[in-house]
Amino acid sequence: MSDCEHIWNAHHQCQWCHRDKQDIDYEESKRDATALLLLASPGITPMSSLSGVVSQLNHVIAGLLIDATYDVNAVQSAINCAVKYGGVDGSHHKTWVIDQMVRMLSGNQYDAIVAGACDGDDGPNTYSWDEGIAP
Ligand SMILES: [Zn+2]
Repeated sequence: MSDCEHIWNAHHQCQWCHRDKQDIDYEESKRDATALLLLASPGITPMSSLSGVVSQLNHVIAGLLIDATYDVNAVQSAINCAVKYGGVDGSHHKTWVIDQMVRMLSGNQYDAIVAGACDGDDGPNTYSWDEGIAP
């Protein structure tokens, strides 16, 4: 069925494609919800019904909210670390604060971030990552 103008007749059927208005609304809602779901979670396999896709969207959004809460906590922890230890004299202690903040903010990406920081023209050990010394 090709796109049409969806002009309704007295029976709420499209004058052009003759589908019922509620069927067209359902199809378009499912299409839009499926597009949103794939935007929020690209790897997911959408369910075949609108209620199924909405249920999947609820799960994905709940997961996003948990992630957002985690990030807020990580930011707060990193700020606390900076406030508590950032003023301790000695560059090795300040280096420790930087390393701790990166750990708190990077979650499970810490190893990858350190590896990326050390990578350069002379290979994976071009630069060193200093973890500093705890105050
Ligand atoms: Zn139509």
